[in-house]
Amino acid sequence: MEKIKMTTPLVEMDGDEMTRILWQMIKEELLLPYIELKTEYYDLGLENRNATDDQVTVDSANATLKYGVAVKCATITPNAARVKEYNLKEMWKSPNGTIRSILDGTVFRAPILVKGIVPYVSNWKKPITIARHAYGDVYKNTEIRVPGPGRAELVFTAADGSQTRELIHEFTGAGILQGIHNTEESIGSFARACFGYAVDTKQDLWFSTKDTISKKYDHTFKDIFQEIYEAEYKEKFEELGIEYFYTLIDDAVARVIRSEGGFIWACKNYDGDVMSDMVATAYGDLSMMTSVLVSPSGVYEYEAAHGTVQRHFYKHLKGEETSTNSIATIFAWTGALRKRGELDGNGALSAFAEKLEQACIRTVEDGKMTRSLSLISTCSEPVILNSLDFIRAIRETLDTLL
Ligand code: NAP
Ligand code: MG
Repeated sequence: MEKIKMTTPLVEMDGDEMTRILWQMIKEELLLPYIELKTEYYDLGLENRNATDDQVTVDSANATLKYGVAVKCATITPNAARVKEYNLKEMWKSPNGTIRSILDGTVFRAPILVKGIVPYVSNWKKPITIARHAYGDVYKNTEIRVPGPGRAELVFTAADGSQTRELIHEFTGAGILQGIHNTEESIGSFARACFGYAVDTKQDLWFSTKDTISKKYDHTFKDIFQEIYEAEYKEKFEELGIEYFYTLIDDAVARVIRSEGGFIWACKNYDGDVMSDMVATAYGDLSMMTSVLVSPSGVYEYEAAHGTVQRHFYKHLKGEETSTNSIATIFAWTGALRKRGELDGNGALSAFAEKLEQACIRTVEDGKMTRSLSLISTCSEPVILNSLDFIRAIRETLDTLL
């Protein structure tokens, strides 16, 4: 087979620990033999972030703005232990946070479904994609522990010095207070990313808040979504036969459980944090979740939802065998390759991405899998493979499909 050519490079963001090992194996076994792979390479491994004072992360995000599509390996977000372990100059910020703030994106997470790994919710037949607003609310809060009796007020001082005041509570004893905010700009970006992704993937979009209780805060989210939908997306949705649907968060939870899946559920920041873990767990396995960051300007960054699988990496370093599931990382590559193919009119590249995804799914459905999948699979006699042999088994399946 002649290798598939690429016209525009992908932005390749390498990462850390076990996923960095898998990254190399995936390229050698599943990509380079089939594609004349063109990437602009950025090493986001912690050593290089430290050596470049984290400039490499900023550069990789700017390259993503330039080329439009990136694929990212999982990376360490340093904590105190990592500062010691890697002898870091500073406790560098989360690369995902840095990239997200440059791309102004929304993260969409979706499970990869395979026969034999049955969701806990038995009527879920298709993936549910969670879109989580990534700015503000309780994640940028200001809190006070009220020591005793007193009056709490919400005060806004406008640029011209005029003030608006609202009584929060007349405390008769000790208590607690919290101030949160969001901006119309951020909510608008979030809405556009969601509507755009729904059009892109031809799925219905659900959005939920608690606007009956929060008549200004949550209601503003609802209103901004509705305005943007009507002004910019309604026609496209009708053309594609997809639906935008708003409901209260508690009603949404009940409907999601009764649904068969196959839609995008847009959530406010906290709801998205909680619901994405619920949905991921109910589909079976964190190592089968994909994640894509979509900016309102139409820039995409694909990755696995899981981390660097540290425990497996330490085993690997000791020379012990690992059985780490590479599927979500492979799907990060296929997502990026498919999107690159779409943007460049490169049908062969998109078709290859599709085949590679099928190969992953078929390999697991044929009973060949990694250890963690075997624990939740209904397959009666699964063949448990190590990290490299699993990738090689996918390659064998891929060769039969090509
Ligand atoms: P993790 O790497 O997702 O791993 C948590 C546990 O889940 C693993 O120990 C493993 O369980 C299981 N697991 C996850 N992915 C797996 C896979 N592909 N195959 C098999 N098992 C898998 O999370 P963590 O241990 O909390 O974090 C490790 C590092 O990753 C941290 O430094 C964190 O900052 C970073 N992180 C990065 C990202 C990102 O870049 N997007 C996201 C999350 C975390 P067993 O050990 O029981 O086998
Ligand atoms: Mg969380």
